[in-house]
Amino acid sequence: MSALLSGEELALRDSVRAFLDRKIAPLVRDHEQAHTFPWDLLPEVYACGYVRGGVPEALGGDEFPMIAQAILMEEAGRCWGSLRTTVNVQGMVARIVAAAGTAEQRERFLAPVLAGRRFGWFALTEPGAGSDAGSLRTRAKRTAGGFIVNGSKIYITNALGCDFGILFARVVGEDDADEGVTALLVDRAESAYGVHDIPHMPLRATTSCELTFDDTFVPETNVLGEIGGGLALGMGAVNVGRLNMAMGAVGLSQACLEESIRFCTQREQFGKPLAAFQLVQQMVVEIATLTETSRLLGYQAARAIDAGEPGRYECSMAKLYCGESAGRAATLALQVHGGAGLMEESPVERYFRDAREATIPEGTSQIQILHLGKALLGQSAMR
Ligand SMILES: Cc1cc2nc3c(=O)[nH]c(=O)nc-3n(C[C@H](O)[C@H](O)[C@H](O)COP(=O)(O)OP(=O)(O)OC[C@H]3O[C@@H](n4cnc5c(N)ncnc54)[C@H](O)[C@@H]3O)c2cc1C
Repeated sequence: MSALLSGEELALRDSVRAFLDRKIAPLVRDHEQAHTFPWDLLPEVYACGYVRGGVPEALGGDEFPMIAQAILMEEAGRCWGSLRTTVNVQGMVARIVAAAGTAEQRERFLAPVLAGRRFGWFALTEPGAGSDAGSLRTRAKRTAGGFIVNGSKIYITNALGCDFGILFARVVGEDDADEGVTALLVDRAESAYGVHDIPHMPLRATTSCELTFDDTFVPETNVLGEIGGGLALGMGAVNVGRLNMAMGAVGLSQACLEESIRFCTQREQFGKPLAAFQLVQQMVVEIATLTETSRLLGYQAARAIDAGEPGRYECSMAKLYCGESAGRAATLALQVHGGAGLMEESPVERYFRDAREATIPEGTSQIQILHLGKALLGQSAMR
């Protein structure tokens, strides 16, 4: 038992950390350099509870409490940002299909996702609709037996490696009447769409894709949940996604701390280890403090959800603080390393790039501030 985690939770953390250190960490550098991802290892990763932990046992998942899912994300973030974001998106897809899918949809999409046999994308963001996701313009026009989809999505994580996805599109009737944003399951085997990677700075082993829909037919049986209910479904998943990103950022800060301690105790200048200099100690202590405070906020958000609360305020605050703190921790870790920190052979070069992602998807830091401001002050400053 520690002040923050029970004996069982600590044992989970230790076993997942040992698995990731042994099985995944040795592969990271090669995959980052080659821009590839070890999809074939995901079933083994899911056996720890990733993706499966967010789905009820009755639907084939492992049904972990949120605190256990938070620990898993923290450890994924400590090991490899590209893994953390991949399991986060697969977990979101699984949770949405579990929550809103029909029995047939769950059989077709959820069961193979939980087994690590199929992988799905989550496509909300568009060139003209980022923070203001509700203004999306991709249209799904009703036609006999389904919809004709036109539009495009950007920055869609790993769409190149997936064979289906959840598309958020505005359903319009044959008379052009707007029926609202709706989630559609789009299966590559039956619906043709374009997909290409947009080269990007962080998370080099993932793809960040543009999807294009040009008169793409999607069958009516692929509507996920209610017509017009898409934004509520997507935003429900984003709340847990925010906590996952926050915990991934805690893990990244922890990695910055460990690597900084390792480096500054080994390297000597002026006849002493760097660790003996007060200004270096100051940087290491700041990383440690940011890591611990981030962890407290993340675990608090997870405990709030486990206590049956919505946890929206806590998840927003954790996303804001942990994301910004990871950026600062990575900047300091790089500085502790001097020139070595800018070289690709040092992990802190990757931590620095990956930390920049923590403040943007699932609602930027500014958007979290606006959510928190509204909760505290009762006034929306969004528009
Ligand atoms: C690596 C990566 C992976 C992603 N993966 C996915 C994915 O899988 N699926 C998906 O749908 N999307 C994904 N996204 C998209 C992500 O959710 C958006 O980038 C994010 O919501 C911000 O939108 P935007 O980039 O259009 O920025 P914008 O909304 O254009 O914002 C630009 C700047 O303006 C600020 N701003 C915007 N509105 C306000 C306001 N009202 N008040 C104050 N400041 C404001 C923002 O905080 C930001 O600083 C991903 C993005 C990245 C970078």
